[in-house]
Amino acid sequence: MDIKENISLKAYNTFGIDAKASMFVEYDTEKGLQQLLESGLLHNNPFLVLGGGSNMVFANDYNGVIVHPANKGVITERECNTPCANDFNGYDCSALSEDKVLVEVAAGEVWSDFAWAMTRKGYYGLENLVEIPGSVGAAPVQNVGAYGVEAKDVIAYVAAYEIATGDKKIFTNKECKFGYRDSIFKNELKNKYIVVSVCFMLSKTANAKTNYSALSKVLSEKGIATPTPLHIAECIAEIRGEKLPNPKDVGSAGSFFKNPIVTHSQLEEIQQNYPDVVSYPAGDKYKLAAGWLIEKCGWKGRTLGNAGVYPKQALVLFNNGGCTGAEVVALANAIEADVESRFGVRLEKEAIIIN
Ligand SMILES: Cc1cc2nc3c(=O)[nH]c(=O)nc-3n(C[C@H](O)[C@H](O)[C@H](O)COP(=O)(O)OP(=O)(O)OC[C@H]3O[C@@H](n4cnc5c(N)ncnc54)[C@H](O)[C@@H]3O)c2cc1C
Repeated sequence: MDIKENISLKAYNTFGIDAKASMFVEYDTEKGLQQLLESGLLHNNPFLVLGGGSNMVFANDYNGVIVHPANKGVITERECNTPCANDFNGYDCSALSEDKVLVEVAAGEVWSDFAWAMTRKGYYGLENLVEIPGSVGAAPVQNVGAYGVEAKDVIAYVAAYEIATGDKKIFTNKECKFGYRDSIFKNELKNKYIVVSVCFMLSKTANAKTNYSALSKVLSEKGIATPTPLHIAECIAEIRGEKLPNPKDVGSAGSFFKNPIVTHSQLEEIQQNYPDVVSYPAGDKYKLAAGWLIEKCGWKGRTLGNAGVYPKQALVLFNNGGCTGAEVVALANAIEADVESRFGVRLEKEAIIIN
């Protein structure tokens, strides 16, 4: 096991923040992860699992072990019309219909590469989720979502190792307790498991989710009435390219804040002064567009130090050149304070701040 010391994390986070880690360990096989857990290194030091670093902001140097999963590739793929004795990692697939395909992929794989590969095979399920930066292993942790689809809609199970014991456990979809950008791995099992692979249940028959307005608009402009997964993925890539920064060119962590959820009476109160407030029903409550709230406070396109609010999308904070994590946090805090004093709503950060 190769432990690197005092290493820059600049290339390991999409914000491009030049924080240092006192220790850095990478493995590219499941065996490598088992050896790391057997070594006890994570029992004696603070640690952080760092996938693509696309939802993280290093506010300071990290004094502990950065664990970087780099195990890649599809592990197994099986069509559900193939006879099997329910031996798919213990997962009971006997009740699945014949048009389903189970694909298990290693956690260190690049999420978008995997989503595009499945889409190109003609499988439905991941086409709305192409171009989301980061790793496969983080997808269930974050329950990534975009354009009307979330990872939870297609995850069959998650395989993860318990850090304390080194034991492998299979979490069914239900056991993952998925919520909005949330899962059991961010709550009661936070820092207790490392995801080693994720199994997706995809579909060979048309199962497109195209009701998200921006997506249906582009499809109809292109005259595509019955889209293939590839049609949808291409439209999604086009839409994302217009308003989100590409991490290769501009450092960011994507949407920096969650869309806040408010009650009907809170919404009515806001509507008295701001009748045009953007809101969507969310169960018996309402989701407000955080980007709209930020823009209304005059932050869109502004900078504070070397951190800024992306001119094309106010929900995204970006690196305006050599910015530090502390500058990003200062900007985020200033925005939160303004939104709260104007609308009475406290924004919650979607990006994870590492202190
Ligand atoms: C330009 C841009 C656009 C984005 N668009 C979207 C979007 O449309 N939808 C969306 O949901 N998100 C979006 N994001 C956020 C981000 O891509 C996702 O949160 C992604 O899942 C993070 O993956 P990662 O590998 O980079 O995770 P990291 O940022 O490295 O880690 C995120 C969390 O997952 C944990 N983790 C990572 N890997 C593992 C593992 N193997 N085992 C256990 N825990 C692990 C980490 O410890 C941390 O808690 C965007 C980000 C950017 C920069």
